Formats: sequence, C-alpha cells, structure tokens
Amino acid sequence: KLPAREETTSDVGFTLMDARSDTTQSDNAKTDQGAVTAVIIGAGMSGLCAAIKLKQAGIDDFVILEMTDGVGGTWHDNSYPGSGCDVPSHLYSYSFEPKADWSRLFSLQPEILDYFEHCADKYGLTPHIRLNTAVAGARFDSVTGRWRVTTQAGEVIDARVLIAGCGQLNRPYVPDLPGLEDFEGTSFHSARWNHAHDLTGQRVAVIGNGASAVQFVPQIAPQVERLSIFQRSCNWIIPRKDKPYSGVSKRLFKWLPFLAWLHRSHIYCIMEMRFAGFRQGGWYAPILKRMATRHMKAQVPDPELRARLTPDYPVGCKRILISDDYYPAIQRDNVDIVTDPIDRITPTGVRTASGREVVADTLIFGTGFQSTGFLAPMEITGLNGRTLDAAWADGAEAYLGLTVAGFPNMFVLYGPNSNLGHNSIIFMVERQVEYMVRCVKSLVDRDLLYLDVKADVMADYNSHVQQDLKRSVWDAGCGNWYKTDNGKITNNWPSWSVAYWWRLRHAGLKDFDAVARS
Ligand code: NAP
Repeated sequence: KLPAREETTSDVGFTLMDARSDTTQSDNAKTDQGAVTAVIIGAGMSGLCAAIKLKQAGIDDFVILEMTDGVGGTWHDNSYPGSGCDVPSHLYSYSFEPKADWSRLFSLQPEILDYFEHCADKYGLTPHIRLNTAVAGARFDSVTGRWRVTTQAGEVIDARVLIAGCGQLNRPYVPDLPGLEDFEGTSFHSARWNHAHDLTGQRVAVIGNGASAVQFVPQIAPQVERLSIFQRSCNWIIPRKDKPYSGVSKRLFKWLPFLAWLHRSHIYCIMEMRFAGFRQGGWYAPILKRMATRHMKAQVPDPELRARLTPDYPVGCKRILISDDYYPAIQRDNVDIVTDPIDRITPTGVRTASGREVVADTLIFGTGFQSTGFLAPMEITGLNGRTLDAAWADGAEAYLGLTVAGFPNMFVLYGPNSNLGHNSIIFMVERQVEYMVRCVKSLVDRDLLYLDVKADVMADYNSHVQQDLKRSVWDAGCGNWYKTDNGKITNNWPSWSVAYWWRLRHAGLKDFDAVARS
C-alpha cells in the first residue's frame, strides 16, 4: 500500500523557504523578463495535453519544442504497415475531446495521428509549436528560477517551467549485433519505417516479435518472397476482435454524446478490471491465460509450433499482445519462425548459433525502444549542478511519476513508474497534467521562485512503489522493457489507474519546498 498523504487540499501548506545557497549561479537578471512561462518538450500526446490545459488555465506564453517534423509523437514515428493502438479509440483519446466517428474499435495509426493533428489545430497550438527543434539540454538557474533550455542548433530559451512530454518509447533500440555494419542489404527499425523501400519479392529478416512486429508481420508477409522472424522469446497473445463502427453508432455517438461517454466508461472499466491479472497470483491472471491459450489452439493446429509459441513466464510479465492475424501470418508457406539465437549478421543475412545462414535482402528491427532512459540523451542539470543522469544512476524515479527532487519547476509527463500494462496511458497523462497545472498556477499566482519536491517525500513514495512492484507480475522472471538491466522496474505504476488518479487528486503542494524570491 502506498502511504496516504494526509493533506487533501491542493494549494496550501507548502514550506515557504528563502532562496537556497546554490553553486549554480547566473549572470541573468533576477526577473522573469524575457522568459516564457513554460517550455514543453515534445508535441506528442502528453505535450499537446499539457499545452491545451495550460492555455485553458490562462497560461499562454509557452513554446513546444518538437524534434521531428510533425506533431503526434509515437503516432508520428510509428507509421509501419498495420500500426495501430491496442487500446480502443474511444478510450485512447482525450476525455475533453471525444471523437464520435472513430472508424473502428481499434483505430490505425493514420486516424490516430489525424486526431492529434486535429487537437493541435482546434486548441490553437500550432503557433506555439517549433518543429525540427531537438533539445540538447536544460540547466536550472536557482537565482532567476529559470530553466535555460538549449536546442541542438544552439538556440537558448529561458523558461520558468520545464515540461517534458517525451514519452517512454521515443528512442528506437537497435541491438549491437556483431557484423551489422557489414550488412549489404537495407535495414531499418520499425519506428523509422523506410517507406521508399519496396519489400515486394524480397527476402526479409525480422528481428523481434513484440507489439510492433505482430502488427507489421501480417501486413508484409503476403508481399515478400520469404520472411524469417527471429524470435528470442515469445508472447502471450489474446484476440483483438476489432470491428468497424456502423454509421448508426457514429451518428448516435454524435447526437447523444452521453452514449459515447457511456461507451468510453464501459471500455475503461473492462480494461481496469484487467489489473487483477497483473498482481502475482491475481484472480484475473488465469482468465487472461485461458483466453491466450484458447486463441492459440484455435489458430495454430500444429502442437509442435504451439509449443514453440508458448511463453514460459506468467501472462502479463511482458506486455500482453492482441492480434487476430499474427498466428495465421506466421503459418504461411513463405514465413519461418527462427528460434535459434542470432550469432551474427553477415553481409548477406543472419547467422544463427547453430551455424544456419538465413539469407536476407532486408533486415527489419522490431526490437523496441530504449525505454528506461526517459529524458536521455538530453542533459538536464538541476540544483547544485547535479545532472539527472547522476540522480538516476540507479534507475529513474520521481514523485508521482512527475517531479524529481533537486530539479525544481520540472514536470516529466508519462515519467518513471507511470506506465500501465492494462489501461490507457492517456488517462494517466490527463491526471498528471491536471496536477502539473495546479502546481504551475501556484508558482505563477504567488510569483514563487521555484517549487522543489521534498527529497524525503520522494524517497518514501518510491520505496513504497518498489515494494508494491515486488508483488507485480512484471517482477516474475521475464525480460521486459519496464525494467533496467539491474532489474529495477522504472516504468510501470504498480496499481490500478484509479488509485493513481486518487493519489494525484489528493496530493498537496505541501510535498514541495516553495522558495520565495529574495
Ligand atoms: P518490444 O515489445 O520491446 O519487443 C522487442 C522485441 O525485440 C522482443 O521480441 C525482443 O525479444 C526482441 N529483441 C530485442 N533485442 C533483441 C536482440 N538483441 N536479439 C533478438 N531479439 C531481440 O518492442 P515493440 O514491439 O516495439 O513494442 C514496444 C511497446 O510499444 C509495446 O510493449 C507497447 O507498449 C508499445 N506498442 C504498442 C502497440 C499497440 O498499441 N498495439 C504497438 C506497438 C508498440 P525479447 O522479448 O526476448 O526481449
């Protein structure tokens, strides 16, 4: 159990302090002239949500720095064939911006991207967004109470508040396989799909079989001559049961928004219930396992293949995948599952540990993301010149997944331990943004120098989070992207999403040291 914070009011009770002595001093004037209120890093789902809610709270002087050439974050990056979301669209959308005419239960990437572009337009964010602007780093100045943000192009922007909306899965991971640099064909990562490269008639090797691969494999399998999927470990897969919405449903959702809200709430409750399968020994786990094994039996008649596809770890330890077309795709005559470990990449393909040579013209990495680095490779420097890298040397942690002691006026949306295995991340991010806006409003309205979460509050919170995670299925002996190499689970929230909502709703600013201007 996480400790209950006794204070329930949002806006009172913090410790007002004088400016601390700090080795990080600046030559800037002690005013906020020339600084924007906030720099938001990233124009994905979290960054856009933060911007919309800041605007609605009357804070309009912010910039959004986006490293790519478009908004949408993960939905801009992951344009591979078949890319889509495994949370139903009526839930995978902002609660304040419902869309009545989602085309299907699980929409595909173009429609989701279109939704976020629509939000950016509708809420007037476009003038705030600077595309192709990657942030190199940011340094907090305790005299001015400003973050000095530096872009990779060398531009400098001062801001009172730094809001990171970078997501957990924005840096593709390509394993450092021996021989890779000598490969003579074409290679790319699923999140950087090479649309100019025609796969027709090609011999393709796919490395990895996670959530991305199970989506693009069925799309490319009929097109290629030969597809070899290198499976290091396998996944529990449950049915997707996708379906288009009828014209009648869409009109009803439009005319009677209450029905759309009911539909959304129903999906939320069904998904939330699944958390009961994510505690070790949880009552819902056998139900999920039965769903997955029945699905495999129905789609894979060959027992030998079924054995190769059956995980040896509890359901939920790795992300549960949902797909109706992956199993049929891998049973095509031109598709092969290779379970021999990869020894090396050769100029013409992949060699396995048993010496088998799999010839390939194209190598596709479905190998996931560098998920535990959070704000890396940006260099973030807080009080006393301490870097976030140093603070997170033993694994990232934050208070409520959002704020880090010693890094004042900084909010990391979808930060450490705020990912879910069972429900919509947009729900979590909306709660974080509500809390962040309350903090920023306090900072601005009281003209404070900065708010810094108390180190003991953050440590106490994280020790309970880690204790709770020990009971979770993610700790049950499998490799997954939720934990660091030394086994610390840095990505997932250990409880129900509704419990997170409750925590944030009742979190008070008394958890911060508030430093007054001197
Ligand atoms: P992932 O789930 O982390 O899968 C990476 C795959 O690459 C795994 O099969 C992994 O094997 C394999 N791999 C990694 N390094 C390897 C190596 N050195 N040699 C051989 N195989 C290696 O990545 P992802 O599929 O991109 O998905 C990441 C997350 O993105 C998902 O869990 C989900 O949260 C999100 N996502 C969601 C959707 C959706 O909503 N439908 C779609 C795509 C992605 P091991 O399992 O053995 O490590």
